[in-house]
Amino acid sequence: MTSSIDVLVSEVGPRDGLQSIHRLMSTQDKKRWITAEAAAGVLEIEVGSFVSAKLIPQLADTAELVAHSLTIPGLTVAALVPNYRGAEKAIECGVHKITIPLSVSETHSLKNLNRTHAQLLDEVRRIAALIRDVPLPRRPAFEGALSTAFGCTIEGPVPQRKVVELAEALMAAGCDEVGLSDTTGYGNPAQVKSLTLAVWAAVGRKHLTGIHLHNTRGQGLANVVAALDVGLSTVDASLGGLGGCPSAPGASGNIVTEDLVFLLEAMGLRTGIDITQLLAVRRIVQEALPGECLYGFVADAGLPKGFISASKLALDD
Ligand code: ZN
Repeated sequence: MTSSIDVLVSEVGPRDGLQSIHRLMSTQDKKRWITAEAAAGVLEIEVGSFVSAKLIPQLADTAELVAHSLTIPGLTVAALVPNYRGAEKAIECGVHKITIPLSVSETHSLKNLNRTHAQLLDEVRRIAALIRDVPLPRRPAFEGALSTAFGCTIEGPVPQRKVVELAEALMAAGCDEVGLSDTTGYGNPAQVKSLTLAVWAAVGRKHLTGIHLHNTRGQGLANVVAALDVGLSTVDASLGGLGGCPSAPGASGNIVTEDLVFLLEAMGLRTGIDITQLLAVRRIVQEALPGECLYGFVADAGLPKGFISASKLALDD
């Protein structure tokens, strides 16, 4: 993370947001979206997933989006991979960051990725070996995302011990870092704190910096504040709160990027993002997906009168 920001906002809308939306967004529109968000100051975007196009046709153009995004100066281009083959493609395309999800709930893992924990960890080991062969300047960062870490729509409560165990296993298998994902929107602020502390105790603070939250039960921004309090510094969000998870029935969108940026900037935490410009990006997405519901309180209510963001204040110093 650059020192000119306090919190890294990672946009996951083009992947997590779109994957549950059946109406295809054109590659051209996705490029406009990514370009506009980067221009607003967003420093990291998960632009797609190297998943089978048959499984998720919406994400079939990920390679082209990566190629486009790599031409944007200063943008960290991230992609999800479900398996070794996906990682091969991601590396070939030159992404900066690869994330592989591991569902802490094994039932969800089987349903989502068709893999047991042992099989998935084996895949992680093979991917880590592949990444080690990439020359350093081009070598992507490798994150293992602990999905359903806060609870599973199929299994119900997920024991903290299991999350910690799998965090250790992912690190041992060769990940650079792990992330906590509330795939199902079951999490609460107390849980965010205790889970973060437990995983830190096992893998070390620098190997867990980020959290991925959904707003399914309205706890999203409260969970962000808990994450900031405990000391996490990267937060995933989706423009307009698009998204959900096809294998977690009932799970609605990610936390809303615009509301997250407002929260952070209002609290004096610099994101480097121009919120007015960010709000304007909604129009691109709305026009590309007519009829699709975009969420966001700040977009609905407008910015408070006289609002000056922390990033803007820092620039004026
Ligand atoms: Zn998600």
